[in-house]
Amino acid sequence: MSELAAVVRDARNEVLGAIRSGDRFLVVTHEHPDGDALGSLIAMQALLSALGKDSVIVISPEDFPLPHEYRFLSLDGLATSPPADLPLRTVMFLDCGNLDRNPLAALHGADPLVNIDHHHDNTLFGSINYVVEEASCTAEIVWDLFAECGVELTSEVAEALYVGLVTDTGRFSYENTTPRSHAMAGELIAAGVDVAAMYRRIYEEAPVGKLTLLCRALASLELFADGRLAVAILTAADFTHAGAEDSDSEGVIDHLRALAGVKVAMLIRELSSNGGGTQHKVSLRATDNDVDVSAIARQHGGGGHRRAAGFTSGLGTVELIDAVRAQV
Ligand code: 5GP
Ligand code: MN
Repeated sequence: MSELAAVVRDARNEVLGAIRSGDRFLVVTHEHPDGDALGSLIAMQALLSALGKDSVIVISPEDFPLPHEYRFLSLDGLATSPPADLPLRTVMFLDCGNLDRNPLAALHGADPLVNIDHHHDNTLFGSINYVVEEASCTAEIVWDLFAECGVELTSEVAEALYVGLVTDTGRFSYENTTPRSHAMAGELIAAGVDVAAMYRRIYEEAPVGKLTLLCRALASLELFADGRLAVAILTAADFTHAGAEDSDSEGVIDHLRALAGVKVAMLIRELSSNGGGTQHKVSLRATDNDVDVSAIARQHGGGGHRRAAGFTSGLGTVELIDAVRAQV
């Protein structure tokens, strides 16, 4: 066993120890929770409940409404602020690469703080850090804990885990898709996931505003660096005109990375809720390993995976494009 594998195995044992010895838990994730974040939260909460533990999920009020594609998921034991007995709880961060990605500052000094994630640039901010880079999604790590704890998957848990798996693997199309991801999918389907119904819920049944927003994004498409960089911009006015929510831009970037010749796709979104000055949320995707977009994102205070990363910046669109262009 390599040294790294031994570290990961030890961390897994530490997590299992924390689960077995704790009575009360608090489970959180990153801001603007995505499918993997929500699926992992729900599954972890169910695992803890099945083991007779008290657990609450805390999601900050500014993260609501959740993206419409995830609203069918039921969040049991949800709170929007940490409970009064916080010091008595084991705090678990799921799918969160660094502390700054969680807006609830009250949790940042928690002890014990269990950090379960699959981002290679995770800052190891926990007292226990269980970071499995090879896992396609955090849901895959949580799924493994179910087996280890001998807890059976209900169809609701299987659906939650499937949401994490299917969204973080880009519907089993990204390079993080492994035999294990497919084995997990097989087990989840056996436990009751209706694949077609889940696809329809996550990727279809979209409000028309989402399609209007996509039209506006595609109309803004520009290619740079001999077609290696594809950029689309969505302004606050685009969202207003389309009657779309922030989260309706999810998926737009996949159209940019689908273009022949594109190495890096970039979506720049003007954030609607800004106090002073315009803030831009930048999403980056790479089509191969030639450019590590998480490194670009880190230069701007963000992070992510080598082929999918993001950051928020006060820079204007021209400066943002120039900065990424220089790296492509
Ligand atoms: P998206 O472009 O879909 O918002 O995010 C793609 C990936 O980049 C996600 O895996 C997410 O973890 C990461 N990411 C996006 N925004 C940020 C950010 O502001 N900070 C960090 N550390 N990671 C981000
Ligand atoms: Mn994830």
